[in-house]
Amino acid sequence: MDSAFETDPELLEKVINLAKRRGFTFQSAEIYGGFRSTYDYGPLGVNMLRNVKAAWWRDMVQLRQDVVGIDAAILGPPAVWAASGHLETFTDPLVDCRTCKERFREDKIDGVCPNCGSTQFTEARAFNLMFKTQAGPVEGEGATAYLRPETAQGMFTNFNNVLFTTRKKPPFGVAQVGKSFRNEITPQNFVFRTREFEQMEMEYFVPPAEADEWYRYWIDVRYNWYLGLGIPSDKLRLHEHATEDLSHYSRGTTDVEFAYPWGWDELEGVANRGDYDLTQHSNASGTKLEYFDQTANERYTPYVIEPAAGATRAMMAFLLAAYHEDVVEGETRTVLRLDWRLAPYQVAVLPLSKKPELEGVSQEVLSLLQPHFACDYDVTQSIGRRYRRQDEVGTPYCITVDFDSLEDRAVTVRDRDTTLQVRVPIAHLLAALRERTNQN
Ligand code: ATP
Repeated sequence: MDSAFETDPELLEKVINLAKRRGFTFQSAEIYGGFRSTYDYGPLGVNMLRNVKAAWWRDMVQLRQDVVGIDAAILGPPAVWAASGHLETFTDPLVDCRTCKERFREDKIDGVCPNCGSTQFTEARAFNLMFKTQAGPVEGEGATAYLRPETAQGMFTNFNNVLFTTRKKPPFGVAQVGKSFRNEITPQNFVFRTREFEQMEMEYFVPPAEADEWYRYWIDVRYNWYLGLGIPSDKLRLHEHATEDLSHYSRGTTDVEFAYPWGWDELEGVANRGDYDLTQHSNASGTKLEYFDQTANERYTPYVIEPAAGATRAMMAFLLAAYHEDVVEGETRTVLRLDWRLAPYQVAVLPLSKKPELEGVSQEVLSLLQPHFACDYDVTQSIGRRYRRQDEVGTPYCITVDFDSLEDRAVTVRDRDTTLQVRVPIAHLLAALRERTNQN
């Protein structure tokens, strides 16, 4: 490990507790005892997860001319997964502990059973991580279907469709955000590794001679994306895979790693997949997936550079990086220093008192801000407690409406990080918040 840091198991517990207590995540099927390692996203979690995906889409698709999006099916026929290599090689080494009979991924346990301490295991066997199911009412060969274990293949199988309908030419990318499923042997660490998760992937098709340059470009862009959304540089690093560790399709892979409470681990992988995928699908389907360069009068199979991120894993990293405890007015508070673009609520409107006189103007402020920001509205308990509650879920701005507001048509804007308060006329409130969030 080149840059060592102190692991912090307590931080993981604190963030998990906060996520449960405040409705970021719920254990799936909790009233039936829970479904192992499967999570539902609650009112705050769904806001934040959508914000993570929206930030990715904005930067990877909306603000670029060279990338378009798709949304492909989750269910797919075996042919796709045979051609991609997943049926054959998308496996992890599974071992059974001979003493307690628990099952583990051999490469994650260092020869000692985490359950009972035994060192006696069965021979490792290849366990395929894909979820297999059946499409239609008749069982049998022709009915077999798989839930996708990555979103990437949808971009390859639609290569011609996108090329012909958009008239893009390499270098260009196809992006997708959506659910993927892997029957992980040992899901663990909250939403870091789950069997059902969300990915944000982009396949960038380039002339082969430019592949290395674009590989470096995307590593740089993706590393900086996390920095720009508030993960500090001492919690991020790049890890280039050694040639012998590369996946079957890869000519080079670099992971963006995050300093999780248990150590450095993957956040996103950027791979140079060469022409592996398009060639495999061309051969297996009989449909040529190529690009014809009219100026050079030459036909070629583009190489692919793939930045592959996890939306749910990224949300967890953003939560971990944002979690702080500090002292305000002699009292310890928990604060999520989330970038405003990721915060579940960007603004909370807080009438100072429940008295009906304040309701009209408070609702007016809420209606003014709601079309532009995700807003919470809270009238319960003391204002101090309400500030703490908003700090704890990362709301950047609290707007307090008090009795003076009725006279001066102004409200107090409180900043989450500095806790400083300023009086702002309601007429200027939207502009003031836009300025603070750099949206002009
Ligand atoms: P790992 O080595 O952690 O199993 P991987 O290298 O197989 O992951 P990729 O196939 O490169 O992962 O997937 C791209 C991204 O998708 C990962 O960087 C991660 O953010 C996310 N991801 C993959 N598997 C899971 C999972 N089981 N749960 C949550 N996110 C996942």
